[in-house]
Amino acid sequence: MDMGAECHHADSTQQGLTGPELDHAIALAESRCMTIQERLTAPRRRVLELLLQADAPLKAYDLIAAFGVQGEPAKPPTVYRALEFLERLGFAHRIESMNAYVPCRMDGHGHQAAFLICDCCGAAQEFEPDFTAQLSAASAAGYEIASITLEARGLCSACRSA
Ligand SMILES: [Zn+2]
Ligand SMILES: [Zn+2]
Repeated sequence: MDMGAECHHADSTQQGLTGPELDHAIALAESRCMTIQERLTAPRRRVLELLLQADAPLKAYDLIAAFGVQGEPAKPPTVYRALEFLERLGFAHRIESMNAYVPCRMDGHGHQAAFLICDCCGAAQEFEPDFTAQLSAASAAGYEIASITLEARGLCSACRSA
């Protein structure tokens, strides 16, 4: 990871999951896949696991490098296809302005996503946005919106007080 080099701490908002918490999150993803008749294949599961374990958003090349349990890198298309799947199902989000990925912290299923991004430590905290006004303006104009992702940049509380 190349973020947080000049920053005081990167422990403010995103906490990587370990142990039973991680197992629980994976099991949840597996059962959600089952109900919609999708398969959490080994590569999809591994990429989700890496995202859930991370303390900050990960770039695709971080995932490619960390993919192998024995340290061997993945073939890039394997990771990109897995990311595409995880995004489509709402298990992960791409933060465009960072070109990085985070696991969904709001239990997925294709909701509109919004992030508070810290320019200092690189933490990205997901929150539930209210796009009611935008959605009704769009439908009044005859638009059908496929997705909205809000990326609000600034300083997290830990970096502000440091
Ligand atoms: Zn989400
Ligand atoms: Zn910060």
